[in-house]
Amino acid sequence: MDDNQLSTSQENIKLLVGPHQVAIDVTNKCNLRCLHCYNNSGENQVIADELSDDDIRKFVDELADMGIYNICYCGGEPLLRRKLLFECTAKLKEAGVPNISMVTNGLLLTKEVAKEIKESGINRVQISLDGARAVSHDRIRNKKGVYEQAIRAINNLKSVGINANIAFTPTSFNIGEFEDVHALLRGLELYDIDFRLQPLMFMGRASENLKDICPSPEMYRELLKKVYKINKEGIEPHITWGDPVDHLIRFTEQPVCNNQCMIRANGDIVASTYLPLVVGNIRKHTLQEYWEAGLRDIWSFKVVREFGVQIKCIADMEGTNPLYPRVWVDKDIYIDLIDDDLNDLEQLKKYL
Ligand code: SF4
Repeated sequence: MDDNQLSTSQENIKLLVGPHQVAIDVTNKCNLRCLHCYNNSGENQVIADELSDDDIRKFVDELADMGIYNICYCGGEPLLRRKLLFECTAKLKEAGVPNISMVTNGLLLTKEVAKEIKESGINRVQISLDGARAVSHDRIRNKKGVYEQAIRAINNLKSVGINANIAFTPTSFNIGEFEDVHALLRGLELYDIDFRLQPLMFMGRASENLKDICPSPEMYRELLKKVYKINKEGIEPHITWGDPVDHLIRFTEQPVCNNQCMIRANGDIVASTYLPLVVGNIRKHTLQEYWEAGLRDIWSFKVVREFGVQIKCIADMEGTNPLYPRVWVDKDIYIDLIDDDLNDLEQLKKYL
């Protein structure tokens, strides 16, 4: 990109009046302790300082005014705060937000809850299925009986007219079951869904369990051949390969307009969920204020890029620079987009 193109692109970024997509960890509490949980849910440092119900209500009011396109309730297990979420969803629907989604492990998703989800207006739900059999799903989810509960949740959603999207995380012991999971989804009549695969991330609880659960490069290669074959033959459901590193490489090499916003359960705003850097907090300033101060252009800031360039592959997520904190393990670096200078690399020194 030459200088002219870059300045046109910077001008265009200013036209974006708010994020298209917002992902918020509504809680990091969880009723599971999965071996691969990248953000250490149930036990991480954010839990002690989670947003209150009123903090979340206030934030959702702001999102409704901003006119976002998509919100995802993430976690932890979002259904632990379901009454609040249903209340927030009503506001967002009224404001015309078209896509309201959530991710869940399915344990709390009874028939009654499925009905409430449908009635609330949440229109996309992602459930994790990490095996075609109980033995592998329950092993990674670290609890017996949860495979049956995930299947029950999928069926409960189906009975109210929601076809769940499915996430599958490969590990050394379930990766061979991938085609069986795909066939299982067909058996459950889940054709027109997003079947999402994402590699195991070297973060949080996964880092502690790598030697027991990490697939080898050869295993990944075989998996990708199968994914390519199924997609090429057009056998539904289509499989999406989610690459968690891709955005870090692209955005640091060529800063682009940021159309997303990620909020942690304590209100922290992060440029990427995979970096140990917090750039603001919604209890300190409004999202609109952060947006106008540069959140829409967050990848052009030197400090953000300094962290982004550290990660070129998944193994780098464990931390390549021993001076920098490990995300979801150590305390994050907090340099506020409004109150500090995110272009001043010298500021990092006070943390290191
Ligand atoms: S992976 Fe999901 S269900 Fe498992 S501990 Fe983490 S947040 Fe909970």
